[in-house]
Formats: sequence, structure tokens, C-alpha cells
Amino acid sequence: MTACSDNVSSQVSESTGSAPVTTAAETVTSAPIGHEKAEEYGKVIALTFDDGPNTSTTGEVLDVLEKYGVRGTFFLIGDNINEQSSENVKRAYQMGCEIANHSKTHSYMNKMSAEDIKAEIAFTNEKIKEIIGVEPTFFRPPYIAVDQNMFDNIDLTFISGYGCEDYEQKVTAQQRYERTMKQAKDGAIILLHDQQGNFQTVQALEMIIPDLLEQGYELVTCSELFFAKGVEISTDNDIVYSYAEQTTMYG
Ligand SMILES: [Zn+2]
Repeated sequence: MTACSDNVSSQVSESTGSAPVTTAAETVTSAPIGHEKAEEYGKVIALTFDDGPNTSTTGEVLDVLEKYGVRGTFFLIGDNINEQSSENVKRAYQMGCEIANHSKTHSYMNKMSAEDIKAEIAFTNEKIKEIIGVEPTFFRPPYIAVDQNMFDNIDLTFISGYGCEDYEQKVTAQQRYERTMKQAKDGAIILLHDQQGNFQTVQALEMIIPDLLEQGYELVTCSELFFAKGVEISTDNDIVYSYAEQTTMYG
């Protein structure tokens, strides 16, 4: 997964005169969440995007989210984070999107030692903190493959979601749209991919987002989803959430 070299402009504060000593993290702040109280939310859905960041599709997904004024959550692969791609991470965070962990190497972690599991998580947590100043709350296991060792060694809340096989090129934008709409329900997490070149998901989003809005959904981050549903998240339970009110491992 190589990144192209085109630059995405970032909104960093202008420097004045002598060399400012600011880290990237200090220049990035997140937009506020939608409502102050859970009761103020209507029907909610969390759109989530895996396998970025990159300098192409991640930006195109952000363009669509921005166009409709909605937020999503990006689950990053640590090895995809570099100087160029991190500009889109900053942009996402500034738009009020949430940034989450999708491992360092995108390997099957249910076959790993505790030490390797911790290294996968720590690498990406630290990269994210370098960019936005805070560590993530959520983790999506690569291939949604989990074991007890992972639950025991990862201090993040595990997220799965309703997917439409949008990592398969043969699944058209229309099919991605139809499958997603079929699975849409209040409190659901929708699993999509902003992997490089996945333009069919960008096209599908152009249909999915207006339809969900039309149906009265608010499109929120994962943190907001749980907040809106009054669900206290924990890192101690063995749940891989596909919807906020889930109480068993796979729902
Ligand atoms: Zn993935």
C-alpha cells in the first residue's frame, strides 16, 4: 500500500516571526460532537472506514462526508501512516471524525503472542497520538479475527460492524449501496474501506449518505454512537461490537 505523492493542504496555524516550537498534535483540534445529551440524538449510525490512511481514497471519502456535513470513524493501519497520509488523518480529526486503531501490520493477531499483540497496538496508538494528540478508544481486529489473548492484552474497545464486502472489486458501487441500506438500523456500525483505489465505496457513499439522512439517521462517530445510546464502553468485556446495544461477543 504505497502512498502517492500529491499533497493535501493542512490547516496549520500561521507562524509568526521566530521559529515556533509546535508539534503537529498541538495544531490539531477536533470539531465538537453533535449533541450534549444522549436524549437529543435521534436514530444514529456510525460509518467506519478501514485500511487507510492514504493520500487518495481517504481524502475522497472525507470529501463526501464533508459535502453532507457528517462524521465517521477511521480505523488506521499503522504501517500506512506517513507524513503525507497523516495530513488526511489531521483533516478527518478536524472535521470531527474519530481516529481508531486497526493494528500496525494488518495480520491475523489471533495467532500472535501477547508481546506481539501489544506491539501492534502500541505502534498505531503512538502514531495516532503523534498526529492528533490523543490515543484512540477503539480497535478493529484485522479480519475480525479475535481470541482471548487479544481481549486480555488490548486495552481498547473492539469494533466489528456490518460490511458489504467492499474490499472485493467485483462488488459494484450499487451492490455496496444496496447491501448497506439493507443492514442499516438504529445503533449500527457500518464497516467500509477507504483503502487506496477503492473508488466504488466513494461512489456508494454518494448514495448511502443521502438515503440514510433522508431516513432520519444521524451519522456519528463510534464514541458518539455509544454516547447516544447510553452505553458505557469498557475495555474489560469480550464484545466485538457491531451495534451499540450489543451484549454478547458477536451479537
Ligand atoms: Zn482491514
